[in-house]
Amino acid sequence: MDEKRSASVIEADVLVAGGGTAGAVAAIAAGRRGCRTVLIEESDMIGGTLTGQVLQHISSFHDGVGNQIIAGIPQQIVDRLAKLGGTPGHMPDTTGYSWSVTPVDHELLQFVLEQMLRDAGVHVMLNTRFERALVEDGVLRGCEALTSRSGPVTIRAAAAVDATGDAAVAAAAGAQCVGGGGQEQAMSILFTMAGVDVDAVLDYIQQHPEDFRSTSVTGPELRGLPVVTIWGFGALLGAGARAGEAPILRGEMHVSLWTQRRMAVVNVTRTAGDPLSDESRSEAILQLRQQALAFSRFLQKRVPGFAGAYLSKTGRGAFAHRAARKIVGDYTLTGEDLRGGRRFDDAVAQSFFPSDRHDARGPSMLVVDSGGVLDIPYRCMLPRGVEGLLAAGRCVSADTVASGSIRVTAPCMAMGQAAGTAAALCAQSGVSPRALDVQLLRQELVRDGVLLYTP
Ligand SMILES: Cc1cc2nc3c(=O)[nH]c(=O)nc-3n(C[C@H](O)[C@H](O)[C@H](O)COP(=O)(O)OP(=O)(O)OC[C@H]3O[C@@H](n4cnc5c(N)ncnc54)[C@H](O)[C@@H]3O)c2cc1C
Repeated sequence: MDEKRSASVIEADVLVAGGGTAGAVAAIAAGRRGCRTVLIEESDMIGGTLTGQVLQHISSFHDGVGNQIIAGIPQQIVDRLAKLGGTPGHMPDTTGYSWSVTPVDHELLQFVLEQMLRDAGVHVMLNTRFERALVEDGVLRGCEALTSRSGPVTIRAAAAVDATGDAAVAAAAGAQCVGGGGQEQAMSILFTMAGVDVDAVLDYIQQHPEDFRSTSVTGPELRGLPVVTIWGFGALLGAGARAGEAPILRGEMHVSLWTQRRMAVVNVTRTAGDPLSDESRSEAILQLRQQALAFSRFLQKRVPGFAGAYLSKTGRGAFAHRAARKIVGDYTLTGEDLRGGRRFDDAVAQSFFPSDRHDARGPSMLVVDSGGVLDIPYRCMLPRGVEGLLAAGRCVSADTVASGSIRVTAPCMAMGQAAGTAAALCAQSGVSPRALDVQLLRQELVRDGVLLYTP
């Protein structure tokens, strides 16, 4: 890295705050364009919720009929992970909820993301928390961050991307923001079970198709798949709740079985909590981990195939919230846009996924189907009230329904590539993100392998 450093000041072209799926891809995109790029990440790992919450898979690279709509850097990540044996690639979603899922090995994914950041020349600062925005005349000029060992650091940059998931930079810079009270989505901790008798689970699924979503594949074709995704077990969950074994009443759980590894990722815990309140968040995390333990016991006792399995990992509490604060952008994507599969002239990413809102106090979730491929316009990334800053990932401007759809990891990565490329173009040409020629940005994205709809 050739950024000029004094004791605690770093001069950069592009600052990316947050090293989750959106931020990692944004930093790779900016670094590859030759920008001095600094990525600050509060935790000690890259990948955010995807790696830290041991998610079942990346959703969703395809539209409803199998056309790939997200490629570019996100696809390169999948390709590199596949070479290491860390993903079987895009697979049919056997729950029928979406067209494809892309299961990932969370440990190997971290290696891949770190290597790609290094290859792109990004200066990665782990254990470094964004603290304060440096704003001059309404323009973000950088930030003050706090490292865990070396104290405070000032990072000055020509353009910045807020990929903190919680719009931490935008809020600190005085931009308009909404949400964060924890009403929008339940918090959950996923967990993995090792030593699963996969054949016994598949036998149960085949013998009890009525216990699974009606769209699910439940027949013999599940055998031989490297990863089986299944959504149901409602009868067993109900019996477990009545017997006091399941800690909360759930109508269904989402289970991904890595068949060769005899490992299952289980998504079933949930509680309410305010992700922006440390006290509320701590309480929720403690409750969720208790639930994970209790549900693992329930699985051992009630669910065929799990009697000899054991709880092998729980997701990290820092990544338990699905939604928090978002920016108010120059455009706010809406549920109407989602239902209509709306297209935009300034689209910089595409998405196709139902809006799902996990009810913190009920047994299931609210689902709104997508009417078609939804474009994510560039204006959703421009926070009102501050210049020099873009948002990417789940904190972009969207109402509750639209956000429930575009928050999944593939669109977050696609937004990251768009925001990182935009920030690089701005830094190199001296224009502010709001003044950037969007059609030029779209051309650059397409040149870099991004799939965009052209009317
Ligand atoms: C329980 C659960 C299950 C889910 N299931 C799925 C699924 O099956 N498939 C799917 O595709 N999506 C799923 N999602 C949604 C998806 O994981 C997230 O919406 C997506 O990962 C968001 O990506 P992001 O990069 O915007 O944010 P994040 O992944 O949250 O990354 C934000 C990063 O910013 C960092 N950060 C925050 N504040 C600061 C700060 N002040 N300074 C520095 N760094 C900071 C964080 O540590 C984090 O690394 C799930 C989410 C949850 C919570």
